[in-house]
Amino acid sequence: MIPYGRQDINESDIQAVVDVLRSDFLTQGPAVPAFEKAVAEYCGAQFSVAVSSATAALHIACLALGVGKGDLVWTSPITFVASANCALYCGADIDFVDIDPHTYNLSAAHLEEKLEQARHAGRLPKVVIPVHLSGQSCDMASIHALSQRYGFKIIEDASHAIGGKYQGQPIGGCRYSEITIFSFHPVKIITTGEGGMALTNDVRLAKRMQLLRSHGITRDTHEMTHEPDGPWYYQQIDLGFNYRMTDLQAALGLSQMQRLDEFVAIRHTVANRYGELFKDLPMVTPWQHPESYSAFHLYVIRLKLVQLGKTHLAFFEALRSAGVGVNLHYIPVYLQPYYQGLGFEAGHCPEAERYYAEAISLPMYPGLMEGGQQRVVEALGKIASQC
Ligand SMILES: *Cc1c(COP(=O)(O)O)cnc(C)c1O
Repeated sequence: MIPYGRQDINESDIQAVVDVLRSDFLTQGPAVPAFEKAVAEYCGAQFSVAVSSATAALHIACLALGVGKGDLVWTSPITFVASANCALYCGADIDFVDIDPHTYNLSAAHLEEKLEQARHAGRLPKVVIPVHLSGQSCDMASIHALSQRYGFKIIEDASHAIGGKYQGQPIGGCRYSEITIFSFHPVKIITTGEGGMALTNDVRLAKRMQLLRSHGITRDTHEMTHEPDGPWYYQQIDLGFNYRMTDLQAALGLSQMQRLDEFVAIRHTVANRYGELFKDLPMVTPWQHPESYSAFHLYVIRLKLVQLGKTHLAFFEALRSAGVGVNLHYIPVYLQPYYQGLGFEAGHCPEAERYYAEAISLPMYPGLMEGGQQRVVEALGKIASQC
């Protein structure tokens, strides 16, 4: 089965991890700050905090922005559950803003409409989490303008998007947000096994996230309530977590950073080839906003089901039977039983539900260039022609 995504590990990556294994530090050594620096410099952000996952990054990003009980956070329904769960971890309430029919990202137009209603109802969100689906940036200029007007903060969930650009600038620079987070799970653009990072240009947010990453413990005497008792001394000044990244992971990430641009360029080659070959098939290929250079984490097609004369499920299953490991990103989060239990009902975001009824993620990763893509294209063409 050709998977929908997979990591690309070379000998340099392996050597980088082995070097850490032979070193003095498996965790909290020099690799983590080196990786943080490399990502921050690449993205043009001032500060970066490496953590154990993007989920952890979302959690401490929400906490750093003061999200707590009684607060409201909004995100996209077409995302991985972690983008919404982070608000619930903080005791806040979550709601969803419907998607744009072309990019499938949280729609700035729907956001404005919902904000206007929320203002009348007297319950505006504290934080909005736009998700750069597939690696294509949301309309951040518009979302940022709305944040100024309605007074909310922005966390960009860029789990799919490291290596992508928006208005010619790398995603992660936080030009239109307080914090941007990345994921380094193996299916994402670069990997550390498990891992994530939060970037910001605000020193106070950076410090707070560093504190929360490691139990709320500080060794900085300026942050302590009194002079240290001795050289062993540290203080826990907040309730944090163990969300640290290890040096083994960071060394892998640092090594992967060297090929980030190459990975994204290959993903574009794969996407362009799919686009060319699917031109005449009854499906919609990913629309690209002219201001965006996607990282192409995912390649999502939407089936024109009436023309195809086949159900979504039948098409999906036929591809799987042909050895093509297609997937579906994502089930609208509020349709998950846990969220239904919170009171969300079907029909909440109609555009997201239309998307869910037609979308399929095709295999997309750099290693696909070696013959795999041809097999995907042939299988898909054959199934489409049988309809
Ligand atoms: C993968 C992903 C996450 C979670 O990433 P982890 O590193 O696995 O915690 C969050 N949001 C989105 C959009 C993702 O795709």
